[in-house]
Amino acid sequence: MRIGIVGGGQLGRMLAQAARPLGHQVTVLEPAEEVPAAGFADVIPAAYDDPAALLALARACDVVTCEFESVPASSLAAIEAAGVPVFPRPSAFATASDRLLEKSMFRALGLGTAPFADVVDDEGLERALGEIELPAVLKTRRNGYDGKGQAVVRSPDEARAAFAAVGRVPCLLEGFVHFRRELSIVAVRGRDGAVATYDVVENVHREGILHTTTAPATGLRPEVAAAAAHAAHAVLTHLEYVGVMALELFEEDGGVRVNEMAPRVHNSGHCTIESAVTSQFENHVRAIVGAPLGSTALRAPATMVNLVGGVPALDAMLALDDVHVHLYDKRPKPGRKVGHVTSLGRDLPALVALVEACRLR
Ligand code: AMP
Repeated sequence: MRIGIVGGGQLGRMLAQAARPLGHQVTVLEPAEEVPAAGFADVIPAAYDDPAALLALARACDVVTCEFESVPASSLAAIEAAGVPVFPRPSAFATASDRLLEKSMFRALGLGTAPFADVVDDEGLERALGEIELPAVLKTRRNGYDGKGQAVVRSPDEARAAFAAVGRVPCLLEGFVHFRRELSIVAVRGRDGAVATYDVVENVHREGILHTTTAPATGLRPEVAAAAAHAAHAVLTHLEYVGVMALELFEEDGGVRVNEMAPRVHNSGHCTIESAVTSQFENHVRAIVGAPLGSTALRAPATMVNLVGGVPALDAMLALDDVHVHLYDKRPKPGRKVGHVTSLGRDLPALVALVEACRLR
């Protein structure tokens, strides 16, 4: 099949790397000068909302998917109007790109979340401050990722200052969750409604950016694993979702709360390239083309470390046992993900050595 991807970054690159061996051709739409997916895909170099480019993408493809959630709804509508299906469905992107819609959906499905209140103006902020206990997190409803567009607020004045600082755009005021750790679950639903979930993994962030993922999460209680899988099933089924999705979760002593969904392949699923029978990238491709899903079973425990801001000495990483390096062909810049490294196994000294080898000097 001919697969189109809106976005040609590292997720598009790894999707294309998974699609090609299955005999699919890939075309990406990407306005940036640097296109990590190039080399594995044809590139249409144009804006995500360029009507002629969207038509060209639709003409070049049998099915279209996206590597990020904030794709303009009008772009997805244009592709569908040209007779080409978009998976996951555009409604999933609409829900996932607005924190209010997303959290309201979790609540309606009976899934635990942090307490939250909608803030559209100063009056609404005062109302929200009456409802939500401090400390809290003020988050813009749209365009927040990797910790951007959000601030922890400890007093009403800090909340007012944070709302002014984001330009009084629509926000959520969310209760601060004193979580034990952050978890996520990657799951996939096929065109026929079949659902499969990967093992719940444990994530550590640094400066708002994912630093390491440990798969599976260590010492996970079975009821927490079951609650995560239940949440994933509920969301996938509710949205009639097709493709891979991730849920980010907070683990507390009493259970889990769902923080957000990513309607796409997810950084915390990168280790599935080596750690699972079928990677999240291959399963996304299988789902959107209507092929049977592959097994999500664990082959080996793994730890993934993101390479952020630059590529450390390659030889130091490659000298380690059972380590797999993935570079994205991106120019290094502070805070930018330029690659990741996955180590199989759970030998603690080896993992300490891995994190050390992945450190920029
Ligand atoms: P998000 O953009 O919602 O994924 O948030 C980015 C990170 O901020 C999360 O991974 C958490 O580490 C932290 N965070 C977000 N929401 C909350 C919350 N309600 N309470 C505590 N920490 C949070």
